Amino acid sequence: MIKTEKIFHLKSSRGRKLRVVREHYLRDHVPCYSSHCQANCDNDGKLLSEDLTHYVFPDVGVVVDYQEVLEFRELRGVVFTQTACHAVQHSKGRRQYNRLRNLLKDPRHDCILFANEFQQYAYCSREKGESQDKWHSRCVYSAAVWYHDHLAGVKPVVMVTEDVSAVAQYSSLNSGIYIVSMQEYLQNFWPELQAPQDLYCSVSQALQEKGSEGTEREYTEHLPLEVLEAGIKSGRYIQGTLHVNKHRAQNEAIVRLEGSSNKNTDLNSDVLVCGGKSRNRAVHGDTVAVELLPRSEWSGRAMALSEGQGEDKTPEGTQSQPMPTGCVVGIVQRNWRDYVVTFPTKEDTQSRSSRRILATPWDQRIPKIRISTQQADALQDHRVVVRIDSWESTSLYPNGHSVRVLGPAGELETEVQTILIENCVHLREMPVTSPENPWRADVEAEARRDLRDSHLVFSIDPRGCEDVDDTLSVRSLPGGERLELAVHIADVTHFVPEGSLTDLEARARATTYYLADRRYDMLPAVLSGDLCSLLGGVDRYAMSVMWELDARTMAVLKVWYGRTVIRSSYQLHYELAQALLNGEPAQVPELTQLDPVQRDSKLAQLTQALEMLTHVARHLRAQRDRGGALELEGVEVQAQLDEDKNITALVPRQPLEVHETVAECMIHANHWVARKIQETFPQQALLRHHPPPRQEFFCQLVDSAKARGFTINTRSNKDLAESLDQAVDPKDPLVNRLLRVMATQAMSNALYVSTGSIPQDQCYHYGLALDRYTHFTSPIRRYADVVVHRLLAAALGLDQAPSSKALASNRELEVLARHINKKNQAAQRTQKLSTELFQCLYFKDKDPLTDPCCVADGVVYSIRANGLLVFMPRYGLKGAVYVKNREGKVVSTGQDGACEWQSGSVHRYPDHISTVSSTGTTTFSLFHHITVRISVQSSRCHSDSLRLEVLSNTPHQSPEPADQPGPQPQGRTRLVQEVVRLAEATQQAQEKAAQGKRPSREERAFCQTKEPNLYALLEEVRELALMDPQACGAEA
Ligand SMILES: [Zn+2]
Repeated sequence: MIKTEKIFHLKSSRGRKLRVVREHYLRDHVPCYSSHCQANCDNDGKLLSEDLTHYVFPDVGVVVDYQEVLEFRELRGVVFTQTACHAVQHSKGRRQYNRLRNLLKDPRHDCILFANEFQQYAYCSREKGESQDKWHSRCVYSAAVWYHDHLAGVKPVVMVTEDVSAVAQYSSLNSGIYIVSMQEYLQNFWPELQAPQDLYCSVSQALQEKGSEGTEREYTEHLPLEVLEAGIKSGRYIQGTLHVNKHRAQNEAIVRLEGSSNKNTDLNSDVLVCGGKSRNRAVHGDTVAVELLPRSEWSGRAMALSEGQGEDKTPEGTQSQPMPTGCVVGIVQRNWRDYVVTFPTKEDTQSRSSRRILATPWDQRIPKIRISTQQADALQDHRVVVRIDSWESTSLYPNGHSVRVLGPAGELETEVQTILIENCVHLREMPVTSPENPWRADVEAEARRDLRDSHLVFSIDPRGCEDVDDTLSVRSLPGGERLELAVHIADVTHFVPEGSLTDLEARARATTYYLADRRYDMLPAVLSGDLCSLLGGVDRYAMSVMWELDARTMAVLKVWYGRTVIRSSYQLHYELAQALLNGEPAQVPELTQLDPVQRDSKLAQLTQALEMLTHVARHLRAQRDRGGALELEGVEVQAQLDEDKNITALVPRQPLEVHETVAECMIHANHWVARKIQETFPQQALLRHHPPPRQEFFCQLVDSAKARGFTINTRSNKDLAESLDQAVDPKDPLVNRLLRVMATQAMSNALYVSTGSIPQDQCYHYGLALDRYTHFTSPIRRYADVVVHRLLAAALGLDQAPSSKALASNRELEVLARHINKKNQAAQRTQKLSTELFQCLYFKDKDPLTDPCCVADGVVYSIRANGLLVFMPRYGLKGAVYVKNREGKVVSTGQDGACEWQSGSVHRYPDHISTVSSTGTTTFSLFHHITVRISVQSSRCHSDSLRLEVLSNTPHQSPEPADQPGPQPQGRTRLVQEVVRLAEATQQAQEKAAQGKRPSREERAFCQTKEPNLYALLEEVRELALMDPQACGAEA
């Protein structure tokens, strides 16, 4: 080893230059991570793959400026030098450096880090008078030469640099290294990859334009990070996340405080930031530091319901008072993501000579972004993905570059992709199986408890379910004093080893995504629909929890956890199981082939098991009820499927007892697994936590119920559950349903947490009334369950299970839990937005003035300052109705109850709102039914939205009987079906015309199953609808 000195020139964030001298050790051997190494390097870790055609060394400038191009997985064989990585760390900051490090770790990316600065023959020290850039290029060149020689020239080595003089200088040395520019490299080595080339052009244009900025200052400079950190410590500045008010994006934002980081203890509310100058270039989602203004300059938030605004979670009435107000003094952490934008129309751009345009983001909370492009005209009707590069104090708008084009605005595919990107859902295809190369499970040598002959195992799922991840069994034990209840869950972790590609992809997705017309699976179909799925009549691996219960009291006497092999005898659906329980005639498909005597005996055996299960579940449920478990509203409809798995109808869920029975058994299993993993790993187990709600959020619920003469007691979950049960209007079942929706919205969301992060006595799950809870029963569609299966295996000492030291630490698990929580929220938002998209597509072509579909009955469930929030059961949609318009006119009813706009005033009361005009007073009261007209408000740059107008303050007299709840198809499905049919017809017409490339069957099966959304519904039953998708959209 040779010791030398390395000199750094760093720039501090204040702009001061620092000279740092470090001791630097050089070694003979540094791993090359090439699978062609002849020199016995200690290549412990990720290797570059064998089938590469060449290795590529990007120069420092290329890595710093074009990292996102190098992030394309299709670009393989990339060697990142240590020199380049340090440069990213020093010049691009923590966030980009972390991205680079993750890229290097990720086995799906064929790239490695070469520690050239430790390799004595590759390293070069800086010469006197040599510029930093020249020295960097020389280091990368020298590394490339060493690499080439080390591998004895088996593969060509390419160095990519944007420095023209370096190309000339090093090409002339004839060392066997190809020196090319980035553009040449992409064109010559990857001619078939268009996307990286397009992105390269876009980034390169943005870089060129960057030099031509003006110098006049539009904003105050941000304070350097060390000043911010010191100020936050001392309490002078406050750190928090910026949330822009979607409805007043120009003017109003709040900074939501981040717990312990703030020393300013007097402050327990959010900080208001008014206007663009005070916001000082902070973008929605950024972590910022704010300084409070003097009290005399504080202001309040706007209160009126503005155009298009839905419900808001914050209680009303407190917002108009002045609140702490401040201005942004610096950015602690940017949180920029990919944004979908629309380019301005031709008319708007013509006046400008430059190629620079102002693109409008789809998300109203994001400011316009300045882009350099020559395609502005060609793409003016398209949606485009862009990234923000910088926002200088001299620039009114941030600068960015385009990444890719999604497609024409308004088309279904474009709009769905928009929703996914706006929620940071990035889905890629996964490995698939093919007839030539079938995916196969290894026959297992390990010991499993064999239940195939001893236990009658069956599953109960919605009709047409393919991925069965839970099955049940129940039996009387000899002697008759004990029962054995068991839950058998698909053994997904047997097929998905930790760290495998499938595991990484599943972890990245974290959940299966259910959109209105399709779903995106978390696991490859070969696993979710076949090998892991606990189908009837075949041998399957399971993770089981088995309890011995006292046959009288149902007290748990013994519990066993472990790996099993099962063969499910019956794949039942809910209606069939209920029919058997009710003693109704029913066809069990598994029994149709048998002779009558055998059939009757088997049927009796199955029915007896179902009865026993129901009996046990009732006891379990009663135990939880005594503890205060809540039954909340959430599930409205249930999907009915035909043979081809198409939704034929969504019917209002007939509450079958067997739903509850299955749900109760799953809750029981989740609870007992939570106990086991928490006891074994008190610092590092994954739990599902549902904190108790904040009492002030119940105001709306309590007041609304009072208006109807009901008292809601929110002191505990038990009180709440009991008083909700009492609040029933026999004449209008919707009242109780809406009250339960309000209760749901007042709740906090349930979240995943690591046991090390919360005190042991605070793991209580409020909604389920259990001291501990986790997710174990759906590993096919939730990654949290996969993690929990691994924890359980480790707790039981199964496999060569890792010891607690090798398991994820509390901190790592906390990071993972946050990731899963975030993805779950994204999944819920995408589901909500896709539903809204379909609603708009459905109403778009209908004339609201003549089409009877556009008029529906609505129930008032909230009163606001200038309007009402209504729920329309026919379409399952909610929205705002105004009683005062922008011209200041108010809605007023004539003799016949029909409404018209007149001059007048509005008066708001807790349980009703009245308008007074020359024709008299019109009143709209909570829970009253009114007639509403639905129309579409089109938007070029954002999503379309529905607009609701009140036609009359009396209930809508529907000409169609379909409005009555019953077994007919409900509005929401009919609506989805119709829109999908139209979109498919259009697509087919286009394909015929273009004979375009269609994705392979596997690809489609993977990325876009046009299958129903029934698991979402089932899931809600299981979680007792703790996460109302409607409630999750509520943001500042
Ligand atoms: Zn080597």
